[in-house]
Amino acid sequence: MKLYNTMTRQKEEFVPIREGKAGIYVCGPTVYDLIHIGNARPMIVFDTLRCYLEYRGYEVNYVSNFTDVDDKIIKRANEEGVDASVISERYIAEARKDMHDMNVREATVHPKATEEIPDMIQMVQTLIDKGYAYEVNGTVYFRTRRFQDYGKLSHKNLDDLRSGNRELKVSGQEEKEDNLDFVLWKPKKEGEPFWESPWGEGRPGWHLECSCMSKKYIGDVIDIHAGGEDLIFPHHENEIAQSEAANGTEFARYWMHNAFLKIDNEKMSKSLGNFFTVREIGEKYPLQVIRFFMLSAHYRSPLNFSDDLVEAAKNGLERILTAVERAEEALKQAEDSQPDDGQIRKVDELVEKYEAAMDDDLNTADAIAVIFELVRLSNTTIGEHVSKSYCEKILDTLELLCGILGIETHREEALLDEEIERLIEERQQARKDKDFARADAIRNELQDKGIVLEDTREGVKWKKI
Ligand code: AMP
Ligand code: ZN
Repeated sequence: MKLYNTMTRQKEEFVPIREGKAGIYVCGPTVYDLIHIGNARPMIVFDTLRCYLEYRGYEVNYVSNFTDVDDKIIKRANEEGVDASVISERYIAEARKDMHDMNVREATVHPKATEEIPDMIQMVQTLIDKGYAYEVNGTVYFRTRRFQDYGKLSHKNLDDLRSGNRELKVSGQEEKEDNLDFVLWKPKKEGEPFWESPWGEGRPGWHLECSCMSKKYIGDVIDIHAGGEDLIFPHHENEIAQSEAANGTEFARYWMHNAFLKIDNEKMSKSLGNFFTVREIGEKYPLQVIRFFMLSAHYRSPLNFSDDLVEAAKNGLERILTAVERAEEALKQAEDSQPDDGQIRKVDELVEKYEAAMDDDLNTADAIAVIFELVRLSNTTIGEHVSKSYCEKILDTLELLCGILGIETHREEALLDEEIERLIEERQQARKDKDFARADAIRNELQDKGIVLEDTREGVKWKKI
């Protein structure tokens, strides 16, 4: 599989550090509010990368953090008069719900910055010991000019950066040796969360957490480091400086960055106020439509968000689901006859074409085009007297190719209240008959559809979650 590496600015064959294994680190959201659909783009894209690598036989260690200590979280906590952890825990739970609804799988590990402070302190100490960092008045800075390779990812020249930055004296940071030095540890301010450290009470700088968590959960060298393209500079550049200076080895082999989700050709962002939360969009569309919409463009192309484009994605998805339903209907009357070899071959060729698209730097746009070819093939070849094995092959392949993209091929049907009541009655009867397996199966079926049962003294109550 070829991946475009931001570091070398070309597509390169993916060769893992350890055969059959892939360690992926994706910078996750800062949890001070509901995530917006721009934040959802890297989640969906790199979750798809994970699924495809697994399909290709890799064992993937997928690590994605939650930044749970940050100025914005503290600001929000102060506004609400609660502890910062109340805000971060609330929005971690909300982000997880949105991710679940977009079929983004749980990461192997979702580390939180606040739970990794000792490792961060350790890394800062190592950097000081090696001469890559220094402390002034309780703040520890990274000595950027000591790190020769600074700028290698963003292809920025250190001298250009320095002259461009000359005007930017950030107040309170006059103590820095150099304008490009960045914060590893900052002293506490009144009303802020803090931790003990050799440099006094304080908290870590943002860049540090990813260097520490990737080291802890993947290793000194990681296969793929990913995130949105706004993170290339300074965040990823700083992560490289910290990790390579501390560990004395290359940090990440492949750097992948998704382009922006835009709105009216501007980056969707909280600060510009031109954003929609995943939650808001979820009220208008099933979130798998959003997933399908995101993947209908290549991840390195900017994608404009508009109602028309989401409608088009919705219709496209509908065509796939309808084809599946039709094939399932046909299967009921299908015959035990030999399938046509030519037709079977055609399906296999489409799978190869799909793989070729995904192998070409995760080209999900072309992969979706192949799924539509399969839909057309299905609609034109499945009818009366179709062979059962051909029908099954089409269905299995549609499910497989969609599944890799995180797209379910079956419509989620909302249960009507009467159906729920009927199932509950059936469960009660099953319990009376001591058929507990059936009773549990009904409870699970309801749970999958978001209905939770509660056995109370007054009988069974249910609610939708
Ligand atoms: P943040 O919470 O701002 O650190 O963002 C979390 C992730 O979302 C990062 O990987 C960002 O690069 C990414 N991101 C934020 N806004 C957008 C956008 N409009 N389009 C694509 N990715 C974005
Ligand atoms: Zn990061």
